[in-house]
Amino acid sequence: METAIVVLGSANADLVVEVARRPLAGETVLGSDTCVLPGGKGANAAVAAARLGGAVAFVGAVGGDANGDLVVRSLVDAGVRVDHVRRVDRPTGAAYITVTPDGENSIVVSPGANAALTADDVWLGSARVLAASLEVPLAVVEHAVVAAERVGARAVVNVSPVARLSAEALAVLDPLVVNEHEADELGDLLALGVRSAVITLGARGAVVVERERATEVPAPRVDVVDTTGAGDAFTGALAVALAGGADLVSAVRRAVAVASVSVTASGAQPSYPTQERMNRSAS
Ligand code: ADP
Repeated sequence: METAIVVLGSANADLVVEVARRPLAGETVLGSDTCVLPGGKGANAAVAAARLGGAVAFVGAVGGDANGDLVVRSLVDAGVRVDHVRRVDRPTGAAYITVTPDGENSIVVSPGANAALTADDVWLGSARVLAASLEVPLAVVEHAVVAAERVGARAVVNVSPVARLSAEALAVLDPLVVNEHEADELGDLLALGVRSAVITLGARGAVVVERERATEVPAPRVDVVDTTGAGDAFTGALAVALAGGADLVSAVRRAVAVASVSVTASGAQPSYPTQERMNRSAS
């Protein structure tokens, strides 16, 4: 199957431990067993897109360690092409996550191998959509979106964690995707020069911002179990719909529907629905 979607971004191992309370400086607290899960914004979006039937290749970097094996296995199991994932001499990216009984997270991210990604790693094949996020070096994302424009691939970039892309890169984003906190940090999105923008609003869905109009897309009311990775499911689903030829507002409707299903199960990647599951929930 020809690759329709290239996802470029981070691949991490999420190391999750439950604690009664966060340690103070200099203090030690005991926690639960460590739960090791595949994650990273890029790998999550790639898995979400592939589960929905997209022909997806992931471009990223992992270490030659067990965490690298874990994240690559998860991509392969979802049907993602991994021949453009480079194994580097750095530890695989890791997110150290402590969760307290009130459900609050504290997270330390160690980028590791993700920081070793270079412009030479960028591969687009004949993809129709490039979906990127920013837990990898900014210069690599900038290079990739400008290259995408040159080969006629649509650039979808989740600007998270927030950073300032070059004006040349911003000018080709169609859309830039952010959540509402990130949107507040960036200010007027269209003033950045992007072609379009999408702001995700959690339980309220999303809004599509185009030059001529803004369109609200409400989310269905669901029983929320765990919102981890909802934004990444959104990006992956958006890429699949756009690669399939949907217009932006229709694609955002699909992405909202998929992300809203993803919050009804725990974990990031394990919660992402297949296309078959989405067909069932629509009928
Ligand atoms: P992020 O995970 O990046 O912070 P959001 O919280 O805005 O992003 O969530 C992304 C998408 O996930 C939303 O647009 C929506 O479709 C879905 N979503 C998130 N939280 C909920 C919720 N409580 N109920 C229904 N859908 C949700």
